[in-house]
Amino acid sequence: MTIVEFLRARLDEEESAKPRTQNPLILTARASSRRYVAEHGDGVLDGQWCPKCETMLHPCYPLRLIAATYHDHPDYDAERWAP
Ligand SMILES: [Zn+2]
Repeated sequence: MTIVEFLRARLDEEESAKPRTQNPLILTARASSRRYVAEHGDGVLDGQWCPKCETMLHPCYPLRLIAATYHDHPDYDAERWAP
């Protein structure tokens, strides 16, 4: 599983858990996370350049920081993704 797949799965899960996600702040945060995942993840493969961050570090920090908010999930790969 890539960090992009992991993040999209978590965001999808949160979206389908409707009752506690009506808070506008949470909706805004999720929209921002989706934008970051698209900007820093789409077309960027392991070991490749992130054009947004201009770094070879993959995953780049924005993705690592978002993923870290799900660090207690069983699919979270701390070895590869920890900030
Ligand atoms: Zn990046």
